[in-house]
Amino acid sequence: MDSLRIIPPPRGSLRGEGNDRPLAEEQKGCRRVQRVVCPGSFDPVTNGHLDIISRAAGLYDEVIVAVLINVTKKSLFTVDERVEMLGQITARYGNVKIERFHGLLVDFCAANGITAVIKGLRAVSDFEYEMQMAQMNYRMAKVETLFMTTNPLYSFLSSSLVKEIARYGGDVSGLVPELVLSSLRERLAEAE
Ligand code: ADP
Repeated sequence: MDSLRIIPPPRGSLRGEGNDRPLAEEQKGCRRVQRVVCPGSFDPVTNGHLDIISRAAGLYDEVIVAVLINVTKKSLFTVDERVEMLGQITARYGNVKIERFHGLLVDFCAANGITAVIKGLRAVSDFEYEMQMAQMNYRMAKVETLFMTTNPLYSFLSSSLVKEIARYGGDVSGLVPELVLSSLRERLAEAE
């Protein structure tokens, strides 16, 4: 019978008081907001990203989608355009906010009272790099990373593949939201 006994978690461990991370202002003295971040380039956002964002929104109080500003990488959409599209597409969730960041993700987390990073794992190939990043982020700032397995409908899907297929006239409907589909068509027509 002893093996069936439910052992309570260590004091404070569910609310994060067990570690030495300083609490953000709004977290002091009241229930802690469980705020997580979904970081990425989102150039453009796909239904695979959206699946992870919506599932995170169902689990946590607040989800911050953080668009990486990477001046060295050539993108199809500007950061402003990506933020705008993400804002419109995720407006229906109510607890999803879109931000932009550059530099270290752990610094963005510290500045915004974020305790965990949510990452989608598509395939084993994602795992090695993601695990290294997760361990480094924990080592640097005790920021946790939580992995969500991709919806099998989207396990093959990436922004770069969407762009490549669309560029050569392939059909990407069903892989990206309608708004992205029309923006992609416009942008690629401009480039011709
Ligand atoms: P990509 O160009 O590979 O789509 P992003 O940097 O925009 O890259 O992706 C941000 C994060 O979104 C990735 O680290 C991954 O965790 C997640 N992601 C991207 N595509 C998918 C997908 N199809 N299914 C699940 N998660 C995904």
